[in-house]
Amino acid sequence: MNVILGAGMSGMGAFYRDNSFEIFEKEDRAGGLCGRFSVKSDDGRTFYFDKAVHLSFTENPVVKEAFSKAQQNIYNPVPHSWFKNMWLQHPAQNNLFPMTAEFKVKALKDFIDRNQNDDPKNFKQWLLFQYGQYLYDELFEPYNKKYWCTDLEQMDTCWVGNRFYRPSIEEVLYGSYTDKTPNTYYAKEMRYPQKGGYVGYIDSIIKEAEKANKIHYGYEAERIDLSEKTVAFTNGERIKYDMLLSSAPLPDIVKCVKDIPNEIKNDAESLEYTSTELVSFGFNKVINCKDIWFYIYDADILAARAYLPSLKSKDNVPDGCSSIQFEIYRSNRDNPRDPKECMQNCVYALKKMNLAGESDIIARDFRTVEYGNIIFRKDTRKKADRIITCLESDGIYPIGRFGRWDYLWSDQAFMSGYEIINNTLS
Ligand SMILES: Cc1cc2nc3c(=O)[nH]c(=O)nc-3n(C[C@H](O)[C@H](O)[C@H](O)COP(=O)(O)OP(=O)(O)OC[C@H]3O[C@@H](n4cnc5c(N)ncnc54)[C@H](O)[C@@H]3O)c2cc1C
Repeated sequence: MNVILGAGMSGMGAFYRDNSFEIFEKEDRAGGLCGRFSVKSDDGRTFYFDKAVHLSFTENPVVKEAFSKAQQNIYNPVPHSWFKNMWLQHPAQNNLFPMTAEFKVKALKDFIDRNQNDDPKNFKQWLLFQYGQYLYDELFEPYNKKYWCTDLEQMDTCWVGNRFYRPSIEEVLYGSYTDKTPNTYYAKEMRYPQKGGYVGYIDSIIKEAEKANKIHYGYEAERIDLSEKTVAFTNGERIKYDMLLSSAPLPDIVKCVKDIPNEIKNDAESLEYTSTELVSFGFNKVINCKDIWFYIYDADILAARAYLPSLKSKDNVPDGCSSIQFEIYRSNRDNPRDPKECMQNCVYALKKMNLAGESDIIARDFRTVEYGNIIFRKDTRKKADRIITCLESDGIYPIGRFGRWDYLWSDQAFMSGYEIINNTLS
């Protein structure tokens, strides 16, 4: 039997490529990080939330085709950021118009004086070399500490790609004189299924797998025996495999493998990531916010980002209602936060941003998504590659965001499952 561990985007991408595989998923439904959940309001109505923002901006033709069964909403959003109690068009560095003259002068001076000659040795230097000291101190350091929950000097830059806009001096100047600036966000078109939440994009693939009895829920792999080629699950079942793909996180899968070398175990234990603490609210009215998602730079608000499920699709909320979800991050090295404190801080944020009051809230939820973003330290890539090479030489093929241990978007996760089959077959 050919086996896939995990029915997230990457596992379903592998199944889409070869539907002879059998999928074993630890949860009771498919979707993984792209899955949705529901919350009942005080008066019994249902609000739906994704696990964090989730919109599609894929240009990959295979993924576009796979997602095409879902009717979708298409948006051209211009995102905003909450910074020093004001709304700025995102990204702030080339949209400083609402800031004080003093702020602009300091930001512009340091932007001009920044070091553009040396190669940055870490993420802190990278930010300093791109934006200058003042914007780093005021904006990039507080925000990125909130997002990455780690010392920026200890972080590598291999994951940065096009995630941060690097404006010219003309763009920074222009954006400090006027708020009529072009949208420089890296994705201009955002898409979302009209029905079923983000996971609705792969609903037809999941249904095909379920119909063919190829997807088995409640199967959490806990022991892999390489010589016998078997996987044992926490529910007591055991299966024999021919080919094994795993989208389980590297630290977890390494723990499962019998007789794995100690240095690989140590590498896996040292990998770091952020968990996402999600605070979700449903409102009894349509709140006054036009942004599908927005960033929060200010340190008094714990969340780094929020999005409105009700603006992604009206299918996510009862008629006449709206909803929001805040994303709060913490390192896997830190203790979990107090849920009550998180909820209270988000209510404070709603009031401060003038979005809603506590009496508007009719549904609430707090939950933690254990694996959110990978924290890239200097040696992370090397360690993860060593683990992946070891697993592959033992016939286990890691796929997806937490199998490849990479900052993959959902389309890239889907393709990592799809392509591993192409590559191993060829
Ligand atoms: C905050 C945040 C926002 C994001 N926003 C976007 C966005 O807007 N657009 C976008 O394209 N991408 C976005 N992404 C990325 C996207 O969520 C991921 O790329 C994608 O969900 C990863 O899919 P995956 O299959 O690799 O992993 P997962 O979704 O984690 O799937 C792995 C599956 O394996 C199962 N599993 C784990 N261990 C075991 C085990 N031992 N046995 C059996 N099953 C197991 C899990 O239950 C899960 O279902 C975002 C990610 C985050 C963290």
